[in-house]
Order: sequence, then C-alpha cells, then structure tokens
Amino acid sequence: MASNPKIAFAKTSLPESGIVAVLTDSRLGFSGNARKLIGKIKNFERIAEAARFTGKAGSALSIPVPPGTDLDRLVVFGLGRGEGDPATEWVKTGGQLLGKIGATEKATILVDIPPGLDDDPVKAAVDMALGARLRAYKFDRYKTKKKPEEENGDCAGSVTYLLDKDAEAKKAWKPHEALAEGVDIARDLVNEPSNVLYPEEFAKRAAKLIDNDVEVEILDEKALRKIGMGALLGVGQGSDRESRVVVMRWNGGKKHDKPVAFIGKGVTFDTGGISIKPAASMEDMKGDMAGAACVVGLMHTLAARKAKVNAVGVIGLVENMPDGNAQRPGDIVTSLSGQTIEIINTDAEGRLVLGDVLWYTQDRFKPKFMVNLATLTGAILIALGQEYAGLFSNNDELADRLTKAGTATGERVWRMPLDPAYDKLIDSKFADMKNTGGRHGGSITAAQFLQRFVNGTPWAHLDIAGTGMGSLQNDINKSWGSGWGVRLLDRLVADHYES
Ligand code: MN
Ligand code: ZN
Repeated sequence: MASNPKIAFAKTSLPESGIVAVLTDSRLGFSGNARKLIGKIKNFERIAEAARFTGKAGSALSIPVPPGTDLDRLVVFGLGRGEGDPATEWVKTGGQLLGKIGATEKATILVDIPPGLDDDPVKAAVDMALGARLRAYKFDRYKTKKKPEEENGDCAGSVTYLLDKDAEAKKAWKPHEALAEGVDIARDLVNEPSNVLYPEEFAKRAAKLIDNDVEVEILDEKALRKIGMGALLGVGQGSDRESRVVVMRWNGGKKHDKPVAFIGKGVTFDTGGISIKPAASMEDMKGDMAGAACVVGLMHTLAARKAKVNAVGVIGLVENMPDGNAQRPGDIVTSLSGQTIEIINTDAEGRLVLGDVLWYTQDRFKPKFMVNLATLTGAILIALGQEYAGLFSNNDELADRLTKAGTATGERVWRMPLDPAYDKLIDSKFADMKNTGGRHGGSITAAQFLQRFVNGTPWAHLDIAGTGMGSLQNDINKSWGSGWGVRLLDRLVADHYES
C-alpha cells in the first residue's frame, strides 16, 4: 500500500546538510566520502567511545548536529564483520538502517563500503533499497485517526543512495523495484478484511493489480461447473459469494517453451464450514488466501521485470461458510480429475480447492513444474513453527532448488516426507479418498492428498500456514501478512528457468 520511501541513486558527493548515514565495520573503518565526512567531525573517536559504539552488525551511532559539519544528524551504521563474521545480508541491512534513521522527510546514504570488505557497491545499494522498501510497508488504510507522530509516517519519505556507479545502480534497481511491488501487492491482499475481499473482488483486483502485460482470465461459477470442478465448488457452496478461478499468463520466454506454473489457495475466509472453527483467532482466517496473494504478487513481479520465462499463475478463490446449502461431512464430491472424495471435515477445504486447480493446470498447460502455495494446515506450525515453510515434493531437483532459493532470500523451506504409507491414510470406505487422514502427520496427509492430483508432473507444495499470515516481525517485515513466497519464487525462476 505505501510505496515509501521513494528511492533514488545519485553520484557520490560530500553531503553538507540534512540527515546522512555512513557505513562502518567492527574496526571503525571508513572509505571514500564517508571517510572524508568522518574526518570533518570534531572528536569523532571520543563520541564513538563515549557512546560505546563498536560498529557491531546492526548497531548505529546517531550524532545530532555533528560538530564541524552543517548536518542535522549523522547515522554511523555498523556492519560488524570481524574475524569469522558472515557476509553482510544487504537486504536485511537496508531494513535495519532505515529503522535507525527513523522518521524524517529525506535521508542520504553514502554507499562507501569500509576498507577490506570487498562487496559490490551496486549490489549493496540496490539490496539495501529493497530492504528499506520492504521494511517501510504499512497497512493502515482503515485507520481514520492517526496520532500526530504517525501523520508523516514512521520512516524516511525518501532515501538517496550515493555511489560512483549510480547509473548502474539505477538499472539494477528496476527488477528489485518490481520485486518490492510484488511483495506489497501480496501483503495488501493478505491484510485486507474478508468483507471487502471476497472471491469476485479478489479476482477483479488480481486483474487490476498485476502488470498489464499479463493475460488474465476469470472463470466464474458457471464456467467452473461446466469444466467440472466439483471439489472446489463444494467448498464455496455455503457462501453467498460466488467462487472464482483466475488464470494469469506471462509469456516472456521462447515461444514453444513449456511454462512454469504457480498455484495458490485463495480461501478468502475460512470459518471451517459445518465443521466450524472455535472463535479464538478466527479473525486470522481472512489470511487463508495468502497462497493466492503470493501468486498474484509473483506474476506482477515477473512481468514488471520482463522475466525471460513463460509462467502461468492459477488461483482458486472461494469462501468457506456454514449455511443451509453448505457442504456436509459425509458428502461425496466428484473432482475435476474424476476421482471422488468423501468429505470428513469441511474445515479441510484448501486441499479440495487445490486438487481441482492442480489437475486443471497440468491438464491445460503441461507445465515444466507446478509449485503450489497454501496456508494449508495448522499442523505445519506444530512441526516447524513460523521460521520455515513446509516443503513437499515429488521431485528432488525442484526441492533442492527451492531449498537453495530459500536460503538465499531468507524465505526458508524445510522438506517433509511423502510416502505411500502416509498416502494409505486417506483411503476412504465410500469414495476414492477422504479429505482428512486424522490428527497424526496432518501436514503430510494433506500433501498426499494434493499429490493425487498432480498426475506425475514435477511438483512442490509449500505449506505456508506459519509464514504467510500472522507473520514474524523482522528487519524487513512489519506486516501481519508478510507477502511470503514472492521473493523465494522470483529467485527460483531467476536462477534456473530464464532462457
Ligand atoms: Mn480450513
Ligand atoms: Zn483453510
């Protein structure tokens, strides 16, 4: 929602006024214009010592009206990096530094990397800018009464990064900006309440939000009935809101190249249906569409940065409500694949939606692979907490690539097992399968269910119930809906699937 701070890159110079930040390390080394600026400050060593500032990673020394200069404030930011310290994660650093600068109209950051750290200043600058953008996001459109200190936001309105290669940085920023936009799109969708964002509205917004070069098709209930998505439609039948499936296509690759496919669970609100959930925290179920939100944000990013790949995004949008027409436990539905499903628990609805959408996607697009994201099971929180998303896959190469992309972006995934012994647990007395496999291994039996709809296509399922909503707050995320997965999957595509 907020696209603050405004990001700019300019030729390096010695700033003479305003709020300025410089980088140092655990030896208090400076280089370039940062060194010149520090040299002008009277008693810098004494100030640093009195403040016990040692340049530790993530720490900052803030000097108001530094003596010997006309600056308003100088922020000296520590990168640490003593013996044996890990390399700087510049995205994270960018978020931290924005936090240390605090609320102000504008700030200038000197991207002079302390001597001895051989980082690329262009990469440092654009990654820091990405971190700043991600940290600054705030969802406050429903706050009508702001405290005076919130009036102008709580971070810098604009940040200018100064470096020699400013033209290169401007160019390198473009894809990063596309990524920041994609994450913000996903966050907005997750944070939006369900009275505003129901399936039809979600579909409309998807069409509007993503880059114009993405082809968008919206399938309504009539179309879905004709296609035969009985499992998906069963979930939505208790809601006054009509269900939707949205197909998004970005063709940036070679003409006959098979696409990569991303599928998202979009339950715009999940009451549990007739197997209704307890009241505590039920409001969080507005986020049960975080998978679909990620796919929309990702498709925007791929198109906005002109990724050289053919990609399809398919999201299943339904609202799960209890009603006179709601699906009952014991009902048997016929899925698009022709397989029948006995409904044991109407709160295990995400897999019913995804089963139809996965089958549809592999059948229509014959993709290289499918990755689906879903806030699928509470059980994944029991297994992994909120640090890692659960990864299930029928393909070692895809799983390995996702794991590496997770480490690189900080959106980490942990592989969980699939096994015929678990698959057995969802066999049904009355139909081909049932929609729950009991309490034990709940995330795994959910994944086994999905696997019955991928038809042998290389596939990975990311269970993001712990990471996509009610997300952990950190240096680059202050939002309830983190937009988790956009950076992970953008990296997966960039590293392996662009021609
Ligand atoms: Mn549910
Ligand atoms: Zn759900």
